[in-house]
Amino acid sequence: MTGISTKEELFETVRQLEKIGGELAQVVWNDPEISGEEVRASGRFRELFREEGFAIVDEPRMPNAFYAEYGHGHPVIAFAGEYDALPGLSQKAAAHKEPVEEGGPGHGCGHNLLGTGCALAAIAVKRYLQSAAEAGEEISGTVRFYGCPEEEALAGKTGMAYLGMFEGCDFCLTWHPMTANRVLDTQCLACARVEYHFSGVSAHAAFGPERGRSAWDAVELMNVGANYLREHVPDRTRIHYAPLPPLFVPNVVPDRAGVTYMVRAADMPTMRSVKERLDKVARGAAMMTETEAEIRLIGGTCEVARNSAFADLYYRNMLEAGAPEYTEEELAFAREVQATLDPELLANEIRAYGTGGEGMAAGVEPRNHWMKVPVNSGSDAGDLSYIMPTMSAEFAAWAMGCSPHTWQACACSGTTLGEKGAFYAGRAMAGTAYDLLHDPEARERITEEFHANVTVPYEPMLSEDFLKRAAE
Ligand SMILES: [Zn+2]
Repeated sequence: MTGISTKEELFETVRQLEKIGGELAQVVWNDPEISGEEVRASGRFRELFREEGFAIVDEPRMPNAFYAEYGHGHPVIAFAGEYDALPGLSQKAAAHKEPVEEGGPGHGCGHNLLGTGCALAAIAVKRYLQSAAEAGEEISGTVRFYGCPEEEALAGKTGMAYLGMFEGCDFCLTWHPMTANRVLDTQCLACARVEYHFSGVSAHAAFGPERGRSAWDAVELMNVGANYLREHVPDRTRIHYAPLPPLFVPNVVPDRAGVTYMVRAADMPTMRSVKERLDKVARGAAMMTETEAEIRLIGGTCEVARNSAFADLYYRNMLEAGAPEYTEEELAFAREVQATLDPELLANEIRAYGTGGEGMAAGVEPRNHWMKVPVNSGSDAGDLSYIMPTMSAEFAAWAMGCSPHTWQACACSGTTLGEKGAFYAGRAMAGTAYDLLHDPEARERITEEFHANVTVPYEPMLSEDFLKRAAE
């Protein structure tokens, strides 16, 4: 290609990268690795960026994390890519449930696409900066692609932030595969994961129950307490729990038992205060049962801080980049997938979005869609939004009605439906970066809003294990 100078030419650059992007998305989809094990996926992304002439910065304490950098000066624009898969979601690119490997991992959240879309945006912006320099116009600006592992464990970006990997960044763009095209001008929830381990005294449950102090009783009483706490917490708080191993039998008073909790709330300070109250419930349960409670923080993430100015810019670029069109064959596949969904839920979704009856969503959802519908889930992108202005959007990659973390989402993520979502995301993010490079007023508006919305200092929530490893 000759010189790249306009935004339209930048979009065209992303289109020319589709072959590379399609191959990358397929290779990662065909070789799913779960959180913490993304050795081959991170290797593939590194290789691509090395070939493209980026400098690679590794972090030995997190071997599956890296960033690739090109350019000089500010603004430094980060694209946060992911590539981890989910356990148990192995699935062929078929419209019926059929695993590649029974019980094996699969890309049920489409992170093969997420990484690919961000990679294409980063490479296109790099080629643009390079082309300008070759034409004698030095543009101040640096592009970085972040290979972020362990998103599904809600831990990757938090660890990277703790290790200083985002230092020097000014703006961050990312996206997530979903069923419609919409900018995420929303808050999500702050989230923490905590394990409560109780230890007591074991005994024969019939011969000498009075000698026992049951750790399982403590778990049960803690859960009862938590369920009473539930009514007296701020709106949008979520508390969920599941038992931890080991399992035991009824005729032994168990001397060890544990439960893992997730606490979510509208913002970090609220979440921390609910977690502290839950810790008290655990200590109370231990006191009642004469057992000992040990509280282990596994990790936590911030809510996603809002930034309307940034959402405006991203949204405009979603419109400019143009939503994809689908072939009859692709739409037929999407409708076959829809036929496996609950018909009532599907009808509700199509009604709510006003699109998707043909199989895939068309066009871009109205800018203020999320003002009406808060997202009650978490994302480790929340931590990024506390460090720098960060904006994400969802792009249609799955048949309308599909949910993340399902075989249907995994199947669509392995087809050209998913790829088209990644390519569209790549164009829209590259276009947004183009505006960030050229529009100082937009940069100022976004940065001002960031400082107005993020008023508490960023404090990563990490497990003691991670902190110990990081200190080595
Ligand atoms: Zn995901």
